Amino acid sequence: MGSFVGYRCSVCGKTYQPDEVTYTCPEDNGILDVMLDYENLKGKEPADLILKDEFSLWRYFSLIPVSNLIGEGTTLRSAGWTPVFSPPQLKEKLGLKQLWVKDESSNPTASFKDRASAVLVARAKEIGAEVVVTASTGNAGAALAGMAAAVDQESVIFAPKTAPPAKIAQLLIYGARVILVDDNYDAAYQLSLEATEEYGWYNRNTGYNPFTAEGKKTAAFEIWEQVLLENPLDRPLAVFVSVGDGNIISGIHKGFKDLLEIGQIQTMPRIFGCQSTGSAAIYNAFLSGKEEILPVAADTLADSISVNLPSDGLRALRAATQTGGAYVGVEDELILQAISDLGEVGIFAEPAGATSYAGLKKALEDGLVAEDDPVLVLNTGSGLKDVKAARQAAGEAPVIPPDLESVRKLLES
Ligand SMILES: *Cc1c(COP(=O)(O)O)cnc(C)c1O
Ligand SMILES: [Zn+2]
Repeated sequence: MGSFVGYRCSVCGKTYQPDEVTYTCPEDNGILDVMLDYENLKGKEPADLILKDEFSLWRYFSLIPVSNLIGEGTTLRSAGWTPVFSPPQLKEKLGLKQLWVKDESSNPTASFKDRASAVLVARAKEIGAEVVVTASTGNAGAALAGMAAAVDQESVIFAPKTAPPAKIAQLLIYGARVILVDDNYDAAYQLSLEATEEYGWYNRNTGYNPFTAEGKKTAAFEIWEQVLLENPLDRPLAVFVSVGDGNIISGIHKGFKDLLEIGQIQTMPRIFGCQSTGSAAIYNAFLSGKEEILPVAADTLADSISVNLPSDGLRALRAATQTGGAYVGVEDELILQAISDLGEVGIFAEPAGATSYAGLKKALEDGLVAEDDPVLVLNTGSGLKDVKAARQAAGEAPVIPPDLESVRKLLES
């Protein structure tokens, strides 16, 4: 089991042994945080913690709670270790001195979700699970289906039938058993839990299985290695994350907490959650100042973050409140604009992927971050996932007859 020593409930604080529970806290259904053997991990050099020839999230194997490094030679071993860009045009446009964009679209199934699914499939193999299952707005399912296919693990995916066609195509191509639900994500989520119970599957649902955040936290480790170790900063890094269910932001917070706990960082980055105002349950709670997340009737074109009641809402809220960050709400209009802004520097994001950049612009306007603050924005998913939204952002191209005269007219008009 390496450094995995147990779980702590995020609501009541009760702790459990690794083999005592599988999903949430039996007392109050609180989400469980995985605890590592922090004493034993303290005081090491970064090189002692990093497998430097492993160019995937598995380079942080010493901090991931699974005991076997599986999937050699497969896409499961290429999830993570995504590039970080620092586009001069965006810095200038925003007036920021230090800006990084971490592009998660280069993951094997083209979204951030591969991090969770890779670790979850490794865990499934370890506990001998025959079938893994998840509810998904599309990306989590594609990631689970892809990572499972890589190591011959059977998978079942429940998704709303309105998921973008590209995501449904991925599910089918990766050979998952795909079940489209004639309702929203929240309903697919509930149904997947009932089916899990009925058939004894291993469930990856976000805000339910404690291992998803353990995969997602590896993005924080990469930010540490790619940005913090390379650029000593005068101020805490401000990290912008799009938020739906709230598990990515919770995972990133957990990653930085692990690093702080073992002495690899001394300053906690400020974490900013970005939601569409059409799906803003956690943003609303942030504004209310209370740790109470109330459901909304979600309606946003950013399908990956469209959720009525976020399943990891409490931890997601704390990621901002405990780090001196904040939540920002952005209209869908601004999300489309952000897709175009990122496109102009060669980064292609789906709506949820660009929501973090839209949130950064809003935070600068509102004075939540200043020009001297170092900033990192995550693009969580590829624009190819949702071509319809991309075309909405970009507008139409002109169509002309096939002659040079028409080209001339067009260029002069
Ligand atoms: C899932 C997802 C998010 C949001 O992650 P949560 O854990 O649901 O908050 C953001 N962007 C993309 C592209 C996603 O697929
Ligand atoms: Zn509890």
